[in-house]
Amino acid sequence: MTALLEAVKLRKAFGPTPALDGAGLRVDAGEIVAIMGPSGSGKSTLLHCLAGILKPDAGTVRYRDVELSSMPDAKRSELRRTDFGFVFQFGQLVPELSCLENVALPLRLSGLKRREAQARATEWLERLEVADVAAKRPGETSGGQGQRVAVARALVTGPRVVFADEPTGALDSLNGERVLRLLVTAARETDAAVVLVTHEARVAAYSDREVVVRDGRSREVEIVR
Ligand code: ADP
Ligand code: ADP
Repeated sequence: MTALLEAVKLRKAFGPTPALDGAGLRVDAGEIVAIMGPSGSGKSTLLHCLAGILKPDAGTVRYRDVELSSMPDAKRSELRRTDFGFVFQFGQLVPELSCLENVALPLRLSGLKRREAQARATEWLERLEVADVAAKRPGETSGGQGQRVAVARALVTGPRVVFADEPTGALDSLNGERVLRLLVTAARETDAAVVLVTHEARVAAYSDREVVVRDGRSREVEIVR
């Protein structure tokens, strides 16, 4: 089977020491992959290259057998909107919009009518158990509620891959655990793959496969679950 998303021998340098130095990663459809490793090892850089946000200096990233860097910018942006979802540590919600409007926004941008977009957004807020904050602005919610809204927004368009960079990094362990459980459940139900960057083993335990990045190189970890 060919991979849904595959990075091979990536190199990326911002300065004299490369952030990525031969890292690679394969993600199959519906698979939950954790990228682990110490701070500064290149995890976020790998995730950004995989998502087509950052262009590697060398190496290839293929999504459904199409090389990302060979796509025109507009096509790659379109792909990110239709096929990818993103959850960051914090700050990705629009502060001026309500939580409901935040979740509806990607649907509105893809041309859905307001009513339909809001109906679907409401369903997703319910799935993530945050229907009660629909009318609030992100700043009026707790950190855990805000992250669950962010997960709803990442999944509402039905992405094939969700990129999550330390999605629970700003939360206490109980809330972090809850966000992850809901993210993983929603991804499995919609058959979305998840690429999860974390430095916590406890978080990685939610994945199907673990990859460790160290000094810009990646290595598969044998796990038995
Ligand atoms: P991790 O996610 O594992 O903490 P990163 O991928 O964020 O690691 O960073 C890897 C290395 O690349 C670090 O030394 C970091 O300082 C550097 N780096 C990452 N992004 C940038 C950037 N935009 N500009 C300069 N250096 C960067
Ligand atoms: P980390 O703590 O993993 O190093 P940072 O917050 O430093 O993450 O961000 C790493 C990269 O992710 C930066 O290049 C930044 O542009 C990008 N990034 C962070 N948050 C967002 C966001 N909400 N939307 C888009 N890009 C983001």
